[in-house]
Amino acid sequence: MITFFPVPYKDELLYSILARYHIRSGNVSIKATQQDIYGTDSITSIMDLPSHINRLMGNLPMGNHYTPDYLITNHTLYPFYAAFLPSEHASTVKESMIGDNGGSIYNRIGLMASSVKFNQYFKFCPKCADEEMSNLGELYWHRIQQIPGVLICPEHNTPLYDSQVPVRGYNKHDYRLAAPESCKICISEKNYSDKIMEKAINITDDVKFLLSNRVASKSLDWFKEQYLNRLKELGFANLNGRIKKKELLCAFLDFYGHELLEKMQSEINNNNNWMNDMLRRNNRTTHPIRHLLFMQFLGISVSDLFNKKIEYKPFGEKPWPCLNPVASHYMSPIITDIELKYGTDSKSPIGIFKCDCGYIYLRTGPDHVEKDRYKKTKIKQFGPIWEDKLKQLTNLRFSLRETARQLGVDPATVKKYAKKLGLQTYWVKRSKIVEKNINTVKQNFPVKKVERYRGEWLNIRKQYPLSSKTELRRLNNRVFTWLYRNDRNWLNRNSPKLKSTVNYNNRVDWKRRDEEIHENVRGAVGDMLSIGKPLRITISSVGSRIGMRPLLEKHLDKLPMTKAFLNEKTEGTKDFQIRRLQWAIQELKEDGQFLSLWRVYRKAGIREAFQNELQEEAIKLIRENNGM
Ligand SMILES: [Zn+2]
Ligand SMILES: [Zn+2]
Repeated sequence: MITFFPVPYKDELLYSILARYHIRSGNVSIKATQQDIYGTDSITSIMDLPSHINRLMGNLPMGNHYTPDYLITNHTLYPFYAAFLPSEHASTVKESMIGDNGGSIYNRIGLMASSVKFNQYFKFCPKCADEEMSNLGELYWHRIQQIPGVLICPEHNTPLYDSQVPVRGYNKHDYRLAAPESCKICISEKNYSDKIMEKAINITDDVKFLLSNRVASKSLDWFKEQYLNRLKELGFANLNGRIKKKELLCAFLDFYGHELLEKMQSEINNNNNWMNDMLRRNNRTTHPIRHLLFMQFLGISVSDLFNKKIEYKPFGEKPWPCLNPVASHYMSPIITDIELKYGTDSKSPIGIFKCDCGYIYLRTGPDHVEKDRYKKTKIKQFGPIWEDKLKQLTNLRFSLRETARQLGVDPATVKKYAKKLGLQTYWVKRSKIVEKNINTVKQNFPVKKVERYRGEWLNIRKQYPLSSKTELRRLNNRVFTWLYRNDRNWLNRNSPKLKSTVNYNNRVDWKRRDEEIHENVRGAVGDMLSIGKPLRITISSVGSRIGMRPLLEKHLDKLPMTKAFLNEKTEGTKDFQIRRLQWAIQELKEDGQFLSLWRVYRKAGIREAFQNELQEEAIKLIRENNGM
């Protein structure tokens, strides 16, 4: 039983507290002190992980507030070693420290097998020693300073020095005090290079963290997985977990240098590669200092290592956008599951993105920048929405090129799928005829000649807007015949329908004309809206397109259905500018370009004079499309 117990200093080793007790007790022999503390004189004095704490507790003065857990956590190196032990392992060690079974502790921790040896002498910081001497009137052994691999004092960021007190003395029962005469700088002053200082400070900070924070116990596999996932992120391991050992070793050695690793007792060579042992799946523990070295190298903070599951995400965080150009949710981030794969010939990860709409695309990763999320390497499956759109477009007799554009694929893919789905296609024939016609006309005759005949024909129609095709032919057979022979397709498109539009009373059936023209106008507007670069929808532009510009310009009032439709569809300057902005944004996004204001303006062809006026609208659109 002892009558007093020195108040522990901050981060003081239990060993040091007992050494101070010994001096203050006035006991001449250490055996008397051992009897006071433990009730026996044969307990070995241990610096880092002492045992028999229960015996000590039993002999402390009455009314003290200490618990074994308190002493172990705050005044021994237990938290440092236990951090990297599985919980059942750690609690056995703690039990051994509380009880009398101290002999097996080092084996349990795996320190016997470790090549990181204890410091030979207690270490001290000269600055701490000076301060303590003037503030406390005595020195004490700091816990953190005794940890192998801690080269500097965390308070002063200055090198630590060996004292003259051996950690394992001649008398193994002795507790030896830190004192000015045993804490003198004997060798020349230490001077570490900046590189070593920086690394040493980082390691010491991490040790401090482990000593002062109770970290949640993790399994050995937890650490291995954390490391492996980070290695994947850094490209030192592939998706399957195969580690590029040579590259890794080179980078590691380069990061620390031999000198520092030697000071940390953690050199790596072919005979002793503790890094490989640590990453291999086995049951061996690794010295905490080596965990810290590796962690720092990988850029993982000690807190994250324990608390934040590192996942290898070559394609970033979910959700990912669906890239099905015909889906209403095109570009919306709605894909939450991806499958990761490795191409047999590729070292890069491949992500398989499956959307509920049936569209599946692949991308070779990893992604480097945000816009990579909108890229696809290959489309694996188009799905029903896309296929329906293909059906719809072929039924509407869109050209092959336009169909391909709308579906976001090349024409060959459109052909392939149309065949696969057994679709009746028109574009093959139509494009042949149309293109052949245009080409022959343009090849065989100078453009001016073609234009002249077309112009003449249109003039006749303008002069006799109510005449049928046959009547017009009679009016100018020469023009009709030339066009009929050389430009028939155009002629057909620019002639009145065969049905006579004239009744016998020579009165125009405006109602029927309105229906027909409305139909034509609708088709033309539809085409104009789906064509690549936006065309402004005006009465003139639509009229020109269907070859009835004068009629629309002059007689629209007689065509109520057409008029109502055009009123709804025609665009003012601003409407059209906004549509161009929307188009430009989509185009830039498809090209994976960053959406900046000037780029959008340039693509949309917005002249400088209008840019200020449109700025608010343009920024809003860009924001929406950036998902902000
Ligand atoms: Zn210090
Ligand atoms: Zn989708």
